[in-house]
Amino acid sequence: MFVPGTRQRLTGWGRTAPSVATVVRPASRDEASAALDTIGARGVTARGLGRAYGDAAQNGGGTVLDCTALDAIGAVDAERGTVVAGGGASLDAIGRAIAAHGWVLPVVPGTRIVTVGGAIAADVHGKGHHRDGSFGAHVEAITLVLPDGETREVTRASDRALFDATTGGMGLTGVIAAATLRLERASGTVRVTTTRTRDLDATMLALVEADARHRYSVAWIDLVGGRGRGIVGAADRIDLDAPSARGEAGRRALRLAVPAVVPVNLVRHASVRAFNELWLRRPIRAEALQSFDAFNAPLDALGAWPRLYGPRGLLQYQCALPIGADAALRTIVEAIADGAPAVPAFAVLKRLGAAGDGPLSFPIEGWTLAVDFPAGAPVLGAFLDTLDERVAAAGGRVYLAKDARMRAEMVPLMYPRIDEWRETQARVDPRGVLTSDLDRRLGLTRGATRGPR
Ligand SMILES: Cc1cc2nc3c(=O)[nH]c(=O)nc-3n(C[C@H](O)[C@H](O)[C@H](O)COP(=O)(O)OP(=O)(O)OC[C@H]3O[C@@H](n4cnc5c(N)ncnc54)[C@H](O)[C@@H]3O)c2cc1C
Repeated sequence: MFVPGTRQRLTGWGRTAPSVATVVRPASRDEASAALDTIGARGVTARGLGRAYGDAAQNGGGTVLDCTALDAIGAVDAERGTVVAGGGASLDAIGRAIAAHGWVLPVVPGTRIVTVGGAIAADVHGKGHHRDGSFGAHVEAITLVLPDGETREVTRASDRALFDATTGGMGLTGVIAAATLRLERASGTVRVTTTRTRDLDATMLALVEADARHRYSVAWIDLVGGRGRGIVGAADRIDLDAPSARGEAGRRALRLAVPAVVPVNLVRHASVRAFNELWLRRPIRAEALQSFDAFNAPLDALGAWPRLYGPRGLLQYQCALPIGADAALRTIVEAIADGAPAVPAFAVLKRLGAAGDGPLSFPIEGWTLAVDFPAGAPVLGAFLDTLDERVAAAGGRVYLAKDARMRAEMVPLMYPRIDEWRETQARVDPRGVLTSDLDRRLGLTRGATRGPR
């Protein structure tokens, strides 16, 4: 079976590091399997909705399998509390399909516009990681199209190593054609408690306290007019039987469209400083009912907001630091607030719970800090390299789904189980069919010293 493709220029969500690949859009797992059979020397990468910020879903000179047509969503198995969804189904579509029956997905990242395949491949976390773990913890089975074309149903019982290597494996163990997801009976409405904090210590303390009492928590922090003051939001889903749970509480999300072309970077020091002042000083209601989506993914209402960063795009730096690394977090926050060579436009601090089982899964128990910078400042790369070194020295790591610039030698320092992951990856892909721009840059499958594929 021949599945035709088209040449396309692709980027990640940050719109940096474009590359050109032959994009094939299989309509079935058989077509995905056939496409894997006909790839050239530059290999193949699976792609979902392109929400990874960097180059994880790109494959310059090779093939990219756009999996978004594998988007079937089955009926909810109410007895088992599960649903089978295609690897290309978005969490948004699944959320809408199951909400009518009173179910929700237990883990949703800060955007609903990601696919099941992307969510498993990055083992994404949400604002409830301290309670719920990451996405992979709620996956029962993965239908994986392996690089040799075979389709296999992978569970923890059938092949634990492959299951774990796939959750967080950045698409490099096979094409996720479908997955069985565990659901939760809950309402789509949350009760949100919001507090303002005056500095980083107060923000950290508020997050620790919020985690002890609430299912979801997050802090938006100011690194332009301050060094970590912010707003901490904590939330809990309200009782399904409460009348307000069935209503549309707080669903009136802000709807703003960003123009298709923004010729210059609008994200500058003065504008961010003014925005943060307004945002942090706005009147807040200590407690309010809101839709979970509006609380969890406020940026979804803005559509293609990276365009605000102009043609050069943005880099998001997201790191995790383990418990006990509070001092390292403080020095990193201060280094960014005092000396970043580009404006730290948008910064979020969260706490993560216990690590999952995937050797390349990002979350480790402790803190995670995510900061957006406009790309293009000449010494931004060198500055972020120094942050990488601090993060690695503190036992932390950078999130591969957000990365577009890290150096390969950082990988074994940040992901000490990489050799275990490579062993499983090589078992299912001995010919080296699966790769990506991220893989080539960081030497994930082959190691930094073995050279490009
Ligand atoms: C506004 C915003 C907020 C975000 N918030 C969070 C957050 O709170 N927590 C978090 O963890 N992440 C967050 N992310 C990152 C995002 O959840 C991940 O990058 C996710 O992987 C994107 O899914 P996608 O479908 O867009 O995949 P893509 O970006 O297209 O691909 C991402 C990776 O998944 C692989 N992949 C995609 N589909 C398949 C498939 N069918 N089979 C095998 N591999 C596949 C790709 O090869 C690639 O390695 C956020 C991103 C944005 C833009």
